[in-house]
Parts: sequence; C-alpha cells; structure tokens
Amino acid sequence: MAVDSPAAPPPLPPWLEAPRDRLVARGRAGRLPHGLLIRGASGVGKSLLSVSLVQSLLCERASDRDPPCGACNSCRSLIGGVHSEVWMLEPEEPGKAIVIDAVRDATEFLSLSGSGSLRVVRVRPADSLTLHAANALLKTLEEPPGGALLILEAAQPARLPATIRSRCEDVEVPTPPLEQVHDWLRPLAADEAAVEEAYAAALGRPMAARDLLTEPERMAGWEQDREVLQQILSADAVTPLAATMQRSLPETLLPRLQALLLSAQRLLATGELDTFGRRFPRPELEAFTRRHGARGLATLAGRANTWQRQLSTSLNPALRMEDIALAFLPKGGR
Ligand SMILES: [Zn+2]
Repeated sequence: MAVDSPAAPPPLPPWLEAPRDRLVARGRAGRLPHGLLIRGASGVGKSLLSVSLVQSLLCERASDRDPPCGACNSCRSLIGGVHSEVWMLEPEEPGKAIVIDAVRDATEFLSLSGSGSLRVVRVRPADSLTLHAANALLKTLEEPPGGALLILEAAQPARLPATIRSRCEDVEVPTPPLEQVHDWLRPLAADEAAVEEAYAAALGRPMAARDLLTEPERMAGWEQDREVLQQILSADAVTPLAATMQRSLPETLLPRLQALLLSAQRLLATGELDTFGRRFPRPELEAFTRRHGARGLATLAGRANTWQRQLSTSLNPALRMEDIALAFLPKGGR
C-alpha cells in the first residue's frame, strides 16, 4: 500500500552514530568484508545499527555522507520490514535455536542473483545457531557469492565457533555511559525520575528502556513484576504470592528477581542501594536481607539462576511459580 509521507528513519542513539558512519563509508566505497560480527550487550542497539547500515547501503537516493532518505522504495520496504535483498535468519520462535534448514534457505537466497549489487543476510541472534547450522553458515562465509553481506548480531559471541568469528570482521557496540542513555531517553519520559525508573526496570538495556517508555503494555508488565517483587520482600504467605506471580511473565520476572537479589546482596555487603534496589522501600529490603542473611541470599541467587535456565524448558508455568514462591517462604513455614 502506498504511503504518501513515510516515517523518517528513527533517530539513531548517539553511541551508534560513529560505528554506523564508519561502516556506511566503507560500504559505499565497496570496502566492507562479506561477514560482520556486531557484538555488544543485550539491548544496546545491535539491531538498530544493523538496520541503519543496511538501509544506508540500499537507499536509492543517499550518497556520500547522506543519511538514508526514508522515502524511496528501498527505504520504505526496509521500514516496512520486508526487502527483496534482505533475508532474516532467525529462530522460528524467540528463544529457540537457529537450525540448519533455516541456514540452507538463507544461503540459497544469497546464491540467487538479485536485482542490485548487494544481498544481505542478517543473523540474529547469531549465538543461537546450532553447531550444525553454524558449520553450514561457515561454508558461505568461506566462499561468499558476489555482493553477499552477512551481518551476525550476538550478545554472547563466545558461544559462536571460533571458525565463524575468524571469518567475520568484529564490530563492537560499546555499552554507552549512563549520562548518554539518560539524555537519549529523556524526551520520551515525563521527568528524570521516570527515565531512571525505566532504565532500572530494563536492567540497564537502553533499547528495552525505550520500549518501556513508549509501549504502555511493557510498563504495565514492569508494574506487575514490581508488585510480585514487593510481595517477595515481605513474603509471609506463599498462596497470595504464587497467585500474584501467575500474572507475571517468567521471562521478564526472573531477570528482575535476579536483579533484586543482587541489590539485596550489595545492600548487605556495602550498605548501599543500587538503582534497581531504589525501586523498593529501603526498610523492606533491609528486613529481607536480615531475614535471609548472606548465605540465604547466595542460595536464592543460585536457585534464581536455575529458574532462569529452565525458562527454555516446557515446565508447567503454574508449578514453576509455586516453586519460586515456596523458596521465599520464611524458614519453618506457616
Ligand atoms: Zn532511501
């Protein structure tokens, strides 16, 4: 469907501008390698960098240092999420692995001659490739068809085989300074306190903080998770806690539970509250740390890591939440 005034490309966070400009300049000069490994912490903006690079290279109007126009057919296709020269190599479902069949489809796409001089495969998250899938991809990285660009995005590049890593140029997205993230988020929030809360709730991931500030259902999810964590701090009966927990999503609640336990451990060790801990009343956190003690907190942190790992298994969610709630019941039960 034709759109008369398509959205301009969203402004890039300042920490992504320099890496983007460097890559675009080389790409326009035809000096990019066939494989790029964009690595950086979760939520730092690897995808945004990748999209911005691809859009700049495929834009029909931009030249030299121009940003992509956001209006040509190519830009519109990319903004719409579909472009005939770009292939997304992703897991079938979030959190699952990228399997070998998906790699075969992507390499077949690369081998077909396109209309332009550039064909892109974005692999995200690249660290979810199975070993077989990674080996299949390696063949393409070793002998890429002309005009092929493979962009691998990974928060944990160490999980990729060394052979894959050595075939790609390393592009690191550094974690930006707190102040820069705050300045970038500030126009999206009512006040400075809201920025701090979103960044804490997003566990220090800038893109997740932006989503919290712009998507009401994510903010509602945080408020729900915070209610659960607040109940955990004052837990005196397992039944209401388990019931409240059922309304939370394990994949957002568990990382936040881990953050709360870390805040409690820091409070015990240093007497200081970190930004995440400051989302909760200090007296309640202090009582919680006293109740469990250093050893109890370490045990709970270990169990929380196990629960986190179990996220990918098909454990019954109700049972899982009950198991978690039970762990916070004061010793001796009621
Ligand atoms: Zn364009």
